[in-house]
Amino acid sequence: MIFLRNLNRVQERINNAARRAGRLPEEIKLIAVTKTVPPETIKEALNCGVNRFGENRVQELILKYPELPPGTEWHLIGHLQTNKVKKIIGKVALIHSLDRWSLAEEISRVAIKNDIVARVLVQVNVAGENTKHGLSLLEAEDFVSSVVPLPGLEVQGLMTIAPWTENPEEVRPVFRQLRELAVRIKASKIGAHMEYLSMGMSGDFEVAVEEGANILRIGTALFGKR
Ligand SMILES: *Cc1c(COP(=O)(O)O)cnc(C)c1O
Repeated sequence: MIFLRNLNRVQERINNAARRAGRLPEEIKLIAVTKTVPPETIKEALNCGVNRFGENRVQELILKYPELPPGTEWHLIGHLQTNKVKKIIGKVALIHSLDRWSLAEEISRVAIKNDIVARVLVQVNVAGENTKHGLSLLEAEDFVSSVVPLPGLEVQGLMTIAPWTENPEEVRPVFRQLRELAVRIKASKIGAHMEYLSMGMSGDFEVAVEEGANILRIGTALFGKR
């Protein structure tokens, strides 16, 4: 059971990072990122007690969705094309990648049509990398305030992908800036729930926990190299 061994190791590292930061490990949700991972392996993870899975592509998510039991929690963590919104509304617990107005409008429209409220995180490109999606730190607050009044959609926090690095200490400021942005938005009159900070992946999740992450998106450290 390589998965179980990996899971225990990751959970122990999360627990230790939480302890260092004076936080409770239970307040941190682990999302197992299953891109390229076959459904049999996902079922094995489910048997080990993991019940939240993240996919970055809509096509892959909807192929795996019917293979797993109802009640399995799915997260869309990658870039979302506007014309694919209708395929995932009602299937995912949280969309982590709201990054533009046209997408917000489409999520709102499709959610209303399906009589649900879609929960979303606003993706922020904290480091300003041009290979990544997301709003800049400067745009994000205005964007959140324009999206909050939309019906059928509820902003629940922020998400970021830190730049790749060998030394996770280097991306600590990225995580810190996302947390500070959430604090500013919460203190403003916008009225957005800033419940979740989705940040931290296999290479940097301990630093993310120390900086306040409460959703971690971890693939490689659980399932091995893709
Ligand atoms: C693939 C992916 C992850 C997980 O990355 P690992 O380094 O394998 O842990 C997290 N977030 C997003 C958006 C991803 O696409």
